[in-house]
Amino acid sequence: MKLSKFNFRFQYGSQQVIFNAISGGLLLLDNTAEVLLEKIGLNQIPEAGLSEIEKVCLEELKRGWIVLENELDELLYLKNIYLRTKYDRTKLVLTVAPTMSCNMRCVYCFEHQEDQSGIMNDEVAAAIVKFAQRRLEVAQLLSVVWFGGEPLLALDKLSALSKSLIDFATAKGRNYSSFLYTNGTLLTRNTAKILADSRVDTVQVSIDGYGEFHDARRKLKNGRPSFGNIIENIKDCCDIINVVIKIGVDRGNVQGAILLLQELARTNLKNRVNVSFSQINSDLDPCVHYVNKTISRRDYASVYLKIIESATEFGYNIVNFEQPPKPRSLCCGHQSMHVVSVDHRGLVYKCLEDMGHSNRALCKIEDYDKFESASQLKWLDYNPIGPECEKCEVLPLCLGGCPRRSFDDGALLCNVDRYVLIDKLKRHVERLVEQQVGPSQVAVSLNEK
Ligand code: SF4
Ligand code: SF4
Repeated sequence: MKLSKFNFRFQYGSQQVIFNAISGGLLLLDNTAEVLLEKIGLNQIPEAGLSEIEKVCLEELKRGWIVLENELDELLYLKNIYLRTKYDRTKLVLTVAPTMSCNMRCVYCFEHQEDQSGIMNDEVAAAIVKFAQRRLEVAQLLSVVWFGGEPLLALDKLSALSKSLIDFATAKGRNYSSFLYTNGTLLTRNTAKILADSRVDTVQVSIDGYGEFHDARRKLKNGRPSFGNIIENIKDCCDIINVVIKIGVDRGNVQGAILLLQELARTNLKNRVNVSFSQINSDLDPCVHYVNKTISRRDYASVYLKIIESATEFGYNIVNFEQPPKPRSLCCGHQSMHVVSVDHRGLVYKCLEDMGHSNRALCKIEDYDKFESASQLKWLDYNPIGPECEKCEVLPLCLGGCPRRSFDDGALLCNVDRYVLIDKLKRHVERLVEQQVGPSQVAVSLNEK
């Protein structure tokens, strides 16, 4: 027996806690567990001669992957999981941009460097449906993500294409789900009803902080502010459709993000929407005029904790923060052979950051299954677990960072957990303690393998 390489041990009050990043298991250690772990670490554990209590405890430690059989190679296990998921055909995820046009001019946006006018025509829509039909011969689930540009500028196309995809999936007995990214400016009550009829379950609205913080970054095309209108739209439609407000954070709007949280709490919107946070990225080619204001991943990790602290004080249910960090099976979902992104011209991309840049397209949607382009091979062939990642303690929670960044300059774009894992775990333990889950329940949280 041996200890996992991916155990994280830390003190919480008077209690020792251990987390395993492969299983996602979190254990509050009692004395028996502590003694066992110490002996296993020193290679002094006889399986024979253990007391009944020790045997039960050892089983729990094994169940949480904290203790492993000697022959188990964790690195090989993770590579295996990665490859299986990459080629898993049971799910098809289609990211569709019915237009790459946008009615806003955000200061950092990557989408305005090429003429993006135009809406998807019927031939491209038909080619997407045909592609989905082929893949759904095997796949059991079709998940559609509406992207842009601003997808609500092409609401009719979105609605018509949804209907074709839903009709086929339903007739074939396949599950269907759908999600939409939007800037929120066109999200009226009537639009929300059309989206709900098109089986869009959730919309994610991007807001970069309260009032002028947002308006300095996310202006309309005519230069006018957008914040007030977006908030009114959210109030009007969040009883019809699930809304996630994604708050973008950079170097200059941390206070703006906190003020927004406060305002949503004051107006009671906080109980009607979910909130998540994301880094306004300086790690992947932002607009050159903006690069000094964005924030590195490491700095983002520390402001993230500050914002989460405030959010918790205001009583928020933070997406991705209620559970302990989850092990991943891919570093980026777009690495899967069965996650396919297509723009209004029918061009296929792997990375969302590339959408709309025709020189970064892989091929046309009708050619995607021919596997003929060099850029397709590049993605297929990519091994995300290089020498630095092999040594990384949070590897199971990241699996190698962003592939696009690695293609661009060989650098790693590390997961935020590399910098804030223990803080996140402590907060989770705090919640468990509040819920009065005691140390007698040794395995308080475990993602079963
Ligand atoms: S390759 Fe990187 S930037 Fe592109 S979708 Fe994946 S994680 Fe995002
Ligand atoms: S990209 Fe960074 S955080 Fe992710 S596994 Fe590699 S070294 Fe670790």
